[in-house]
Amino acid sequence: MLEIKNLHARIADTDTEILHGLDLVVEDGEVAAIMGPNGSGKSTLSYIIAGREDYEVTEGDILYNGESILEMDAAERAASGVFLAFQYPLEIPGVATMTFLKTALNSQRKARGEGELTTPDFMRRVKEAAGDLKIDAAMLKRPLNVGFSGGEKKRAEILQMALLEPKLCVLDETDSGLDIDALKIVADGVNALRGADRSFLVITHYQRLLDYIVPDKVHVLYKGRIIKTGDKDLALQLENEGYAQIIGEAA
Ligand code: ADP
Ligand code: MG
Ligand code: MG
Repeated sequence: MLEIKNLHARIADTDTEILHGLDLVVEDGEVAAIMGPNGSGKSTLSYIIAGREDYEVTEGDILYNGESILEMDAAERAASGVFLAFQYPLEIPGVATMTFLKTALNSQRKARGEGELTTPDFMRRVKEAAGDLKIDAAMLKRPLNVGFSGGEKKRAEILQMALLEPKLCVLDETDSGLDIDALKIVADGVNALRGADRSFLVITHYQRLLDYIVPDKVHVLYKGRIIKTGDKDLALQLENEGYAQIIGEAA
């Protein structure tokens, strides 16, 4: 699904390299967790996979289903099934959440050569997905993320993901700002989408989320590189021992 090879990336138009030769493979159907201290480059990695323009890849490649996506813009990547749930979801005043979702879904369908959903079809889908995530219908009428609590913003991200049915889902610290009930709802939402032809990159600073979204692999990102890969027990080890031990071993 995803193969990142020797990825070096910097902030556009600067000499500030953030990723320094990152290697990562995510298989079809795999849930891979990326853990790492603040400032390691986790969000940068997620933005670069999604195609955000503020970053420049200077070396290496990102293969998605075996093909390089470096020349594709963010919209093309999204249309091909790459989805990023943001660490800090944007507030869009003046655009009702429902309108945003409908536009997002229909523009993606258009890019894939599929017809627009009728309004009743769309409403049925959005109500079902929102119900699963315990999202109130009233929330969908409010402008996207404006005045939403931390938990509501994260649930709105997962709702978008559920509707768009992506192949590669990147979740950047979806657990931050969630209390335990919201965390379980979000985790249930993610787990319901797990499947043989969908992969997840679950980025988190803490182990707690991984009690609910149990990963197939755990990768430790530190200073722009993956310094260790293991199974779910690696997350527990990090929780108990902190990052210092693993950073020391890698050095
Ligand atoms: P993480 O998500 O792991 O906390 P980030 O990807 O947000 O890490 O940041 C990695 C490093 O890159 C940090 O040192 C951060 O300060 C730096 N960085 C990220 N974006 C920018 C930017 N636009 N300008 C300057 N430094 C940046
Ligand atoms: Mg981050
Ligand atoms: Mg870094």
